[in-house]
Amino acid sequence: MIGLFGGTFDPVHFGHLRVALDVVQHLRLEQLRLLPLAAAVHRRQPIAAPEQRMAMLRVAIHDEPVLVADDRELTRGGPSYTVDTLRSFREELGAEAPLCLLVGADAFEGLRDWHRPLDIMEMVHLIVMQRPGAPTARDPWLRDQVEQRRIQDPASLRDQAAGLIYFQTVTQLDISATRIRRLLAQGKSPRYLLPDAVLAMAHASRCYAS
Ligand code: ATP
Repeated sequence: MIGLFGGTFDPVHFGHLRVALDVVQHLRLEQLRLLPLAAAVHRRQPIAAPEQRMAMLRVAIHDEPVLVADDRELTRGGPSYTVDTLRSFREELGAEAPLCLLVGADAFEGLRDWHRPLDIMEMVHLIVMQRPGAPTARDPWLRDQVEQRRIQDPASLRDQAAGLIYFQTVTQLDISATRIRRLLAQGKSPRYLLPDAVLAMAHASRCYAS
């Protein structure tokens, strides 16, 4: 079973990498694809260029073969709608292969506002990464979806291709790309918040210098 984890990765940091590995290990994924988005739909646009974000991602995961950088949203260009990305994976993997999409709890809470949320849920299982004891789904529409689709045993994810929701508690690291960019722009060091090799690339390209 493979998983998909999309994000801006502007730049990738230990918050992303640790939760990625948490999910890989817990669900026993064969592979997790990390997909940098081209143009954001719901948020401000990335600062670093697509090829810089991709290069930083590649260097961050080069020695962890289960994590694979996937540039299909960057090569497709335009707004990165999840539903389009999932269609492209379904063309590749067929309709029967179980497929998991990792989403942060905050993003999940806004699922109703995503482009074609029901189509998304027909194409993948949703793995909602959350804090221990966090509330699930305040939105009534989403609460209904959770009631219909939630499973407790991750082994069930392999019984069907898509359509289930699983909540996973992941390591809490208070790291954001915003803070890393701010530190760099202020001439301070974000070391130990992200891999040294990523930091070296950010310095060399000066992509976050003020
Ligand atoms: P920014 O600060 O620029 O908004 P970010 O650090 O949140 O960026 P993104 O690339 O936007 O990083 O995040 C991609 C995904 O990773 C999102 O689903 C987000 O919830 C998750 N994520 C980001 N940081 C962490 C973290 N420290 N712990 C767990 N998940 C994280």
